[in-house]
Amino acid sequence: MFAEIIAIGTELTSGAKLDTNSQWLSLQLAELGIPVLFHTTVADDLQANIDALKIAAGRVDFIFVTGGLGPTLDDLTRHAIAGLLNVDLVEDAASMEHLEGFFVSRGREMPERNRIQAMFPAGSTSLVNPVGTAPGIWAEYPRQGAMPCMVAAMPGVPSEMHRMFQEQVKPLLPGGDVLIRRARINCFGIGESATEEILGDLTARGNDPEVGITAHEATITLRINAQGSNEAECLEKIDGARKIIRAKLSEFVFGEEDEELEDVIMRDLVKQGKTFATVEHATAGLLAQWIAHVPDATDCYRGGNVSVSSSGSSEISLKAQAEDFRKAVDADYVIAIGGEAIRTNESGRLISEIPIVLIGDSVRTQELLTWTGNPAITKGRTAKCALNLLRQ
Ligand code: ATP
Ligand code: MG
Repeated sequence: MFAEIIAIGTELTSGAKLDTNSQWLSLQLAELGIPVLFHTTVADDLQANIDALKIAAGRVDFIFVTGGLGPTLDDLTRHAIAGLLNVDLVEDAASMEHLEGFFVSRGREMPERNRIQAMFPAGSTSLVNPVGTAPGIWAEYPRQGAMPCMVAAMPGVPSEMHRMFQEQVKPLLPGGDVLIRRARINCFGIGESATEEILGDLTARGNDPEVGITAHEATITLRINAQGSNEAECLEKIDGARKIIRAKLSEFVFGEEDEELEDVIMRDLVKQGKTFATVEHATAGLLAQWIAHVPDATDCYRGGNVSVSSSGSSEISLKAQAEDFRKAVDADYVIAIGGEAIRTNESGRLISEIPIVLIGDSVRTQELLTWTGNPAITKGRTAKCALNLLRQ
């Protein structure tokens, strides 16, 4: 059982928009155990769409189409599926009612053009769109000597497509042979190669569960993929890998899945009833911006003091500034990032040095960060290192 995803839209083939629907769908289908063999992208052109559908129906068992279900003249997916099945479009009474209801609920008159959205290739089924006007289409393409090829057409708008897939399409799909489950564990304070060395064989390719390492702005993410014939088997494998990783990298692990360093640190501060504030020179508010996005911010963040002094501020003056700001905003802690000093080392390389400081009632921590890399990357690293002081 294999699948193909066809993303329809001239905005995709022209390069104006990136096809994110195929990526999302592939991840969903992998979890269901339905491997995707092809991603196809086609312009809003009827013959090209029919051709793409015919080719797909000859090589896979499931076709997932996104886009082209709207009411405008360039929305041709329903016509293309009718072309594949060699049938006419017929009106579906229930869809017409849903469509009319959609406009009534918004106090608007339904434009005549929208009627096309209640037209379906004869023999196909409509899929309710709970959030938009475009219903989806479910059709089966008969094939001699083989099971029919299933075609599910969904709207192009990503949020509408996600919901229709989850609520309408997924229940219609047979369970695949192999399930895939994933988990992510996030670490900070250790490099990629050191992580690999510590984990040893666990990260070998082809393992099940498979553990991969990726790095983003100095956060190391361990991605666990497990296969199994049922949910419990997958979760047991993931749990096994998780336990080993947490044991071997305990001081570096800070969270799982989408959790960022700031989420975890601020959740802990709120639990302890503590507050903090920031002083930033070299990172010019980057840290404050991350913090502001965390829902816990209103409960534990007292504010930031941002300035853009280019010269290196001495650690002593940075500490004094942090202490002053702590008093001014009445915070339990202040983390401060000093200005950047650039010097040349023995081999002529440019070295950037940035002091970071943590000040609290009973803590006084300071570090001098030294970077040789691209400033665009080291800014994020600096902010994370400073934040990480609160974790120790
Ligand atoms: P409707 O017109 O009812 O919104 P539709 O099925 O006709 O639905 P399109 O007109 O093709 O959808 O696209 C609607 C929006 O969704 C556009 O902004 C488009 O850029 C976006 N979109 C379409 N296909 C994709 C895709 N594969 N990945 C990401 N965005 C997409
Ligand atoms: Mg379109």
